[in-house]
Amino acid sequence: MNRHVGQLPKQYDPKALEEEVRTLWENEGTYKLVKETRSHGPKFYYLDGPPFPSSDTPHIGTSWNKVLKDTIIRYQRTRGFNVRDQPGYDCHGLPIELAVEQKFGFKTKKDIESFGLERFVSECKRFAEINCASMTRVFQNLGVWMDWANPYMTHHDDYIESDWWSLKQAWKKNLFERGQRVVHWCPRCETVLSDYEVVQEYKTLRDPSIYVKFPVVGKESEFVLIWTTTPWTLPSNVAVMVNPDFQYAKVRSDGEVYILAKERIAHVEEAAGVHLEVVETFPGTKLEGLKYSSPLESLVPAQKDLRNAHSVVLSKEYVTLEEGTGCVHSAPGHGEEDYEVGLRFKLPVLMLVDDQGKFVTEAGKYAGKPVREANPEIIEDLKSLGMLLQATEIEHRSPVCWRCKTPLLIRATNQWLIKVAQMKDRFIKEVENTTWIPDWAGANQFKNWLGGLKDWVVSRQRFWGTPLPVWVCNSCGSTKVIGSKDELLKEATDPTELSSLHVPWVDRIKLRCKCGGEMSRVPDVMVGWYDSGAASYASLSHPKNPELTKFWWPPDFIVEGRDQISGWFFALLKTGIIAMDQTPFKTVLMHGFMLDDAGREMHKSLGNFVASDEVVQKYGRDIFRYYVLQTTIWEDLRFSWDALKQYSGDLSTFWNTYVFASTYMSLDEFSPSKWPLRKLTGALRPEDRWLLSRTHRTIKEVTEAMEGYRVHEALRKLKNFLVEDLSHTYVRFIRRRTWVEKETRDKLAAYATLYYALKQALIMLTPTLPFVTEALYQHMFKEAELKHPATVHLLGWPSWDKKWLDDSLESEMEAAKSVLSTVALARMEKSLKQRQPVRNVAVVTDSETTRNALKRYKALMLEQANTRTLIGAAPSSSSKYEMQAGEGRYAKAEFPAGALYVDLKLSRDDLAEGLARDVVRRMQQMRKEMDLKVDSYVHAYIVAPSTKAAGMLRSKSKYLAHEVRAKQLTVSTRKVEVRAPYYTKTWPIDKEMYEVGLCEVSRLKSKT
Ligand SMILES: [Zn+2]
Ligand SMILES: [Zn+2]
Repeated sequence: MNRHVGQLPKQYDPKALEEEVRTLWENEGTYKLVKETRSHGPKFYYLDGPPFPSSDTPHIGTSWNKVLKDTIIRYQRTRGFNVRDQPGYDCHGLPIELAVEQKFGFKTKKDIESFGLERFVSECKRFAEINCASMTRVFQNLGVWMDWANPYMTHHDDYIESDWWSLKQAWKKNLFERGQRVVHWCPRCETVLSDYEVVQEYKTLRDPSIYVKFPVVGKESEFVLIWTTTPWTLPSNVAVMVNPDFQYAKVRSDGEVYILAKERIAHVEEAAGVHLEVVETFPGTKLEGLKYSSPLESLVPAQKDLRNAHSVVLSKEYVTLEEGTGCVHSAPGHGEEDYEVGLRFKLPVLMLVDDQGKFVTEAGKYAGKPVREANPEIIEDLKSLGMLLQATEIEHRSPVCWRCKTPLLIRATNQWLIKVAQMKDRFIKEVENTTWIPDWAGANQFKNWLGGLKDWVVSRQRFWGTPLPVWVCNSCGSTKVIGSKDELLKEATDPTELSSLHVPWVDRIKLRCKCGGEMSRVPDVMVGWYDSGAASYASLSHPKNPELTKFWWPPDFIVEGRDQISGWFFALLKTGIIAMDQTPFKTVLMHGFMLDDAGREMHKSLGNFVASDEVVQKYGRDIFRYYVLQTTIWEDLRFSWDALKQYSGDLSTFWNTYVFASTYMSLDEFSPSKWPLRKLTGALRPEDRWLLSRTHRTIKEVTEAMEGYRVHEALRKLKNFLVEDLSHTYVRFIRRRTWVEKETRDKLAAYATLYYALKQALIMLTPTLPFVTEALYQHMFKEAELKHPATVHLLGWPSWDKKWLDDSLESEMEAAKSVLSTVALARMEKSLKQRQPVRNVAVVTDSETTRNALKRYKALMLEQANTRTLIGAAPSSSSKYEMQAGEGRYAKAEFPAGALYVDLKLSRDDLAEGLARDVVRRMQQMRKEMDLKVDSYVHAYIVAPSTKAAGMLRSKSKYLAHEVRAKQLTVSTRKVEVRAPYYTKTWPIDKEMYEVGLCEVSRLKSKT
């Protein structure tokens, strides 16, 4: 069998190639083949962070994320690992409910209830599933090889059951309970929001800024002066906080006495436009226990009931001198810090606001009013009661609902929570047992986040989510947490009725209590973060398949964006430790954000949204992948079409390097099986050994980078190898060797070296550029060797051998390249063409490396510098050249290692050779224009402008004929008559005109 290297298409046409590869993969079932082939290797559990299907078009940052994951998965497969590659979708949650609400024009939760919960939840499910399918298509189109036929979806019953199971573990460990917590609340969505959701969205709001007088009990016209921007929390006031470390003062104004911090007096005077005369000063401790009465007690019945509570308490942490009066109005029902201080002093928690953000009956005069709308009325009332010192307005940044943009309220509510705050030290310790890339993501960012660990509020007052598996007895109030569907049906009073575990179906299941009463499920669903956090075991349907869990768990690797420090990474850690008693990941890679070219986030509403499909259509899949993967993973990427275009040039350079090799090797029917490197080691030139050293060093460095998940570093090393070492250096160096017709060992050594280097680079590029590498393999490599897998993705990752690494070969090559580029510079300054051979180049240097390079790479440098001799000389001999240089004999150029001198004296023969090379270059150009095969022969003629020029060319006719593959070549000074269809062109060389004609021999024959 005559196997040899195949011919590549000349042009890099990503669209055509990618379609060809996609068809091949589809027809051959390539993904399944690769997965199956690797299924016997050691396990590698990659866990997908599930994107949220709130839109049918994934954000381009999500496409980047998926491509990065695909690259790691492909790399591990190439290394021989059996990779678990199940993708996931985070299907529950508020954004999907809101999208459905918008579709039907709902304004409040009541609209949903009258629409019917069955219909509403079915619509949410449909919405999520349609978007999942659409996103899957985009990811698959990018060449992301995951198990798309079998994704984990958080709304599947199996998944929900796993959530239930783990919550039951928390219950058994006494970590799950119902309790009061101060939370951020959206009055439109009527639900609690996570801290994580609260930091997402802020808006500048105009709010009141008021100074209010709290009458001191038993003193006429004496008041504690407070400042607030939320008048609507005054009906819930319980205490005033002062700082024991500050100095306070009694001040007089218009016959009234106010108590405030001494340092805030000047500020209040300016803000309220009053003069305050200091009566006495004293430390804050003296105010402890001071009784005051509520300024609104005549209007708010709840305030009257609390009368005994209204007193001054001390707080070092939450009273500052940055704003206000140093006396802080405290409403534990409406502030986290107030709540904490309230707990310490056993203060009552007053909370007069309902789910929709309206005042309840106990708020008296304000009952039924939305709290923010009640602000002006409260201010008016304070004024008429004489309790207002000053009212202005303030603009400040306040959190709003990240979905519906409604300003959030803070309220104390009863929620279901997991008591993780007490496990803080354990959590921080767990982080130390995991690998974070970059390491500061874990050592600083994640640890800092864990420092503020609070109990986890897992209940949400919504519909589309994992139902909280808690049933409560309607008679005795006892609670039961259910861990599976089977358990639920076993305990159900009527077990036949359960088509879905979702609301409202699950709520039809009632349980029988020990007391004889009936138990109903609590109305809440679970926070979506609990779903996605459970992915490490819920995607395995744990505990239903213990063998599966035993084989795979825990995940080896996760990778997500930097926002997941407080999101998914955090949720994973919490559920992992609660349910499995262990961190559910070994290695975390954190990536940056995709921004627009001005550094802003990309949003459809901003008009700067780019979809990855658009990039694929314009440039191709590999170019998108290359562009995003070369960026430093943990830095933000500013998307730019210009940059994308620039990077696409690299892929063309890669392609052309392979085309060069493929063209000559296929022509010569080079067979790497017949001529492997090991049979040619004796024929290797120093530059071949240099390339092999570079190849093995590149394998070493790329492998180390990939093992550390630094994909960008690996890709940059590969680019350097392909562009600098191969395209710009080695391929240039071996052009003349490949042009030799005979099958010499010297040529074979160059082929074998180049083939080896290109093949190793090809394999290392497969994880990042799966399409172009497959095309290169199918066209060029696959048929070249006896043993060949069906796809490039089954070639194993290369290993490096230190016997090939040679530091001095590499440093001397750098020195040689530096000399060569300096020779080119010296020539250019004297307008001496590169093609004009010179007699001598003298390199004056005290660098040992450079002198060694001149010896080691002598043949190569003579050829590349186009000189007959090359001398290395010590700096002491430079005067010899300097003197003659002064007379114009030498062209001098300096470089870091010294200086060199190019001899400018040329003989007639030198000039003839220079002219001949000029003509050859143009004839080769014409061969290309005629689209001749590299090996086809021609007849040629040259009409020279003078007898002298014709004579010079005739003296080099053997060389000319050989270089342009001419069977017949005539040189004359007058135009010759030619009958056959010659391709002719007139060229100016050194300001004189030369006519050149070429005709392919086969065409000549067919004409006669
Ligand atoms: Zn909302
Ligand atoms: Zn009961």
